[in-house]
Amino acid sequence: MTLLCVPIFVTDDMVKLRGVALRACEAGADILELRLDEIGGEAQLVPLRQFLRHAPLPCILTCRPISEGGQSELADTERWEVLQSAREGQAAYVDFELAAASRVDLTNSPRPLILSAHDFFGRPNRLANLVLDLNASRSEVNKIAWTARSIRDNIEAFELLQTREKPTIALCMGEAGLISRVLAKKFGAFLTFASLDNNSGTAPGQISIEKMKRLYRWDALGPSTKVYGVVGSPVAHSMSPAIHNAAFENAGYDGIYLPLLVNPGYESFKAFMESFLAFEPLHLSGLSITIPHKENALRYLKERGAEIEELAERIGAVNTIVIGKDRALRGFNTDYAAILDSITAALNITRQQLAGYRVAVIGAGGTGRTAVAALAHCGATVVVYNRTAERAAALATEFTGRSGKVVAAPLEKLCDSCCQIYINTTSVGMHPNVHASPLGERLPAFTAETLVFDTVYNPPVTRFLAQAQAAGARTIGGIEMFIRQAAGQFHAWTGHDAPMDLMRKVVESRL
Ligand code: NAP
Repeated sequence: MTLLCVPIFVTDDMVKLRGVALRACEAGADILELRLDEIGGEAQLVPLRQFLRHAPLPCILTCRPISEGGQSELADTERWEVLQSAREGQAAYVDFELAAASRVDLTNSPRPLILSAHDFFGRPNRLANLVLDLNASRSEVNKIAWTARSIRDNIEAFELLQTREKPTIALCMGEAGLISRVLAKKFGAFLTFASLDNNSGTAPGQISIEKMKRLYRWDALGPSTKVYGVVGSPVAHSMSPAIHNAAFENAGYDGIYLPLLVNPGYESFKAFMESFLAFEPLHLSGLSITIPHKENALRYLKERGAEIEELAERIGAVNTIVIGKDRALRGFNTDYAAILDSITAALNITRQQLAGYRVAVIGAGGTGRTAVAALAHCGATVVVYNRTAERAAALATEFTGRSGKVVAAPLEKLCDSCCQIYINTTSVGMHPNVHASPLGERLPAFTAETLVFDTVYNPPVTRFLAQAQAAGARTIGGIEMFIRQAAGQFHAWTGHDAPMDLMRKVVESRL
């Protein structure tokens, strides 16, 4: 069993310590790490020992020096004495640094002992030797934590757990290391850390116990849990983990969905794919691809000779990868289906019936391109409006005649257009610039028959949609597209229909 450990910085306020410890217990922690970095004299140790005798959870005691990410300025021998002395209050474990262990006398060490090594600047050069040293030491538990240089460092942490000779904690710090904290349980780590709340983390990248339990399905994780995730940069604020994990939970599916921070550039994407695919015990089963990697995903799949959906290839972007048992890859684009299905559901028509519609697409970036390709594919007549006119013209030239007609028009002429459907695919109106609208102040002649669709989902009702609603038009918000593209991914990965209402509720509650 992998323990969920909440670290607490200890001051001389024992009432506060007890309160925090009780909250951690209620939140589902199995063990506490008490950081005694600021504890020194006997006057502080006496009440601490009292606390330890009645602590609501087992405790690990540690007193970190500055060199290993702590705040203690005491000499190694003094820190060791603090730990020895505090431990008389019945702590479960004492954690001391391997680097300092040679400078103290461990022969009468309070047992059990965790020996640890931290590197806040990157992967330790001597990683393999550190493991050998820890294995040869008097420790009962080995701990190694370093700052992930890239997401690939997590794989090495998992390998350390898989090849452990003693109970082991192997963690990568920083945003790219988040997955090592969550998947510690999958790989049988001795423990992982989670902060009591969002503001009380003791190391970079540590997430709260609430996130660990609710968002990342801690209780459901096991050795055979399939791993999914969203590959992008940035990914920290993606809502995809929330909706996919809620959907997995709802379906009783043994999967976990994680944010996978992969630096921009094809080489970074390729290196990530190669290392994650090669590590079979990860059970990597599917990926969502977001900015800036949708084109990289297509290129990678082509290089590997993978199966790629035709329209994804034509759009030039893959947003979904399915990884089969034999690591055969398939690439899709669920964005275009999400755009089409949002429209056809709102109008209660089939995709074929879109052939009779004239559609204004505002924007010629990635989403604009997807909308134009999808609508032209269905035979709609599409007018592209974009700030940079050349991009609109290039898009029109590329997709016209496949099978609908596509033309470009100046953005200033948008208010004179007479389309039945208007789609905003620009970022105009997106949080925090919520007062902006791609229409400006002059609206086209919207009627009750006009459908206005904003792909921006934060805020759920943009200024563009509010203008359309005020003019009596029907509207679709970007949440609809977001949910539908995610539902397409869920189906591609699990073979089941996605719980779209649940996903919608999750997004709405987070916005
Ligand atoms: P992108 O490739 O960077 O394209 C951005 C587009 O917005 C370009 O056409 C750009 O025009 C235009 N633009 C940006 N700022 C503008 C401004 N101030 N005035 C006028 N036009 C402006 O981005 P993307 O990937 O297509 O994403 C665009 C938006 O789509 C996102 O912000 C997001 O809200 C939405 N989206 C929604 C979903 C969903 O599931 N609901 C999924 C993906 C994206 P230029 O060509 O002149 O630069």
